[in-house]
Amino acid sequence: MRLIIMGPPGAGKGTVAPGVCQATGCRHISTGDMFRSNIKNQTVLGQEAQGYIKKGQLVPDELTIRMVRQTLLEDCRGDQFLLDGFPRNVSQAEALDSFFAGEERGLDAVILLVVPDEQIIRRLSGRMVCPECGESYNINSRRPAREGICDVCGNKLIVREDDREETVKSRLEVYHSQSEPLADYYDRKGLLLKIDGSKSPEAVTQSVADALRGI
Ligand code: AMP
Repeated sequence: MRLIIMGPPGAGKGTVAPGVCQATGCRHISTGDMFRSNIKNQTVLGQEAQGYIKKGQLVPDELTIRMVRQTLLEDCRGDQFLLDGFPRNVSQAEALDSFFAGEERGLDAVILLVVPDEQIIRRLSGRMVCPECGESYNINSRRPAREGICDVCGNKLIVREDDREETVKSRLEVYHSQSEPLADYYDRKGLLLKIDGSKSPEAVTQSVADALRGI
């Protein structure tokens, strides 16, 4: 399957994605994770992207599209993927369409997680992540067994720099102005599956699985 999962920051895309990938055999491709790994490894791409991410802005399309194109066409050979965090604006969506130009088959579905802004702000202010394995926790809803320590790999948890309140506000503004119009773009193509993302991770994962069974 060729799938996209979209929604505001903190909607639960990264939480739901592993379950979807397990059920469908898709590979999880998260552009946010790819940028964070490039920043951690101090690559040229990481250095270029860092400043934008810190401010809660989008990394320029040219860099992002090149990175995704390479991963999709070389590593996944164009198939069996769940894109998380890409596309984030209409030009990126058009670029993605162009990767498959000439093929009869395009995307299979676009999952949109809908969560109100107030809930997003509450969720992100309690989020902690493991900088090693990427596992995500929340002081309100999903605490690690040992305070501040990752259950999966035992590393110390951190607060993502772009989860600070001011940056979260910028990320939400960017989402509403640039990414939300994508919902119409994909709805017009008959690909959009709208899911209530305000429920528990288990309930949201189940709703996504049910919706995918119908396509
Ligand atoms: P995420 O983990 O998906 O919330 O992404 C974290 C940050 O990485 C975003 O706030 C952007 O600065 C950057 N980013 C991730 N995906 C994209 C994209 N498709 N286009 C531009 N910037 C992106």
